[in-house]
Amino acid sequence: MKPPQSLLCGGHFSPNGGVLTTSSESWCQNQLADQQLHQLLEKVDWDLAEQAHQQGCLFCGCKLHRADYDRKPRGGPEWDYRYSFCCAQEGCRRRRTPESVRFMGRRVYAGLIVVLVSAMVHGLKPERVARLRQALGIDRRTLERWHQWWLVTFVESSFWRAARARFMPPLCQRTLPWSLCLSFQVERRDRFLELLKFLAPLTTPLAWQELVM
Ligand SMILES: [Zn+2]
Repeated sequence: MKPPQSLLCGGHFSPNGGVLTTSSESWCQNQLADQQLHQLLEKVDWDLAEQAHQQGCLFCGCKLHRADYDRKPRGGPEWDYRYSFCCAQEGCRRRRTPESVRFMGRRVYAGLIVVLVSAMVHGLKPERVARLRQALGIDRRTLERWHQWWLVTFVESSFWRAARARFMPPLCQRTLPWSLCLSFQVERRDRFLELLKFLAPLTTPLAWQELVM
């Protein structure tokens, strides 16, 4: 798995020569290019898939067969599949797609990119955001759509209405997901992983139906 050239240390996205500093821009770039993080996310997704596999079909309890989706998220790690299963029972055959820390619903970008770049809208100057967006090949309208999604769809989702009470003091909803990133202290790899795990219940096709905009 190779991050895009422009995000590697020393690429044009490394004004500090790849040295980790506390500035938002550099931790964002570091997370995007962090291959250990990408491998960790893959492992977590595999574990989530294993759990679902062992539980079996949610409708009839029968065995599940692997039936992964071909997915190649843009601008991020080279992941090829989203784990998914299909019930082996004739007459049922229903799909079960486990939660994921890599894919957010049907978005074409990896979840970590959707979270980090959306957060940067609130954390960086507009020209810096534009540079980041361009390096990842995200057009302006896509980023605007993500921005609206966080501020409207996410805020009104049943997931967030149930989850927001656990944040004390309450998170600023107008600066999501930046406020979430600050709260989770995502400059640390393990904390960023925790944030993606926190958001994972949103990523199944069933949950996603409520969240499409
Ligand atoms: Zn079944």
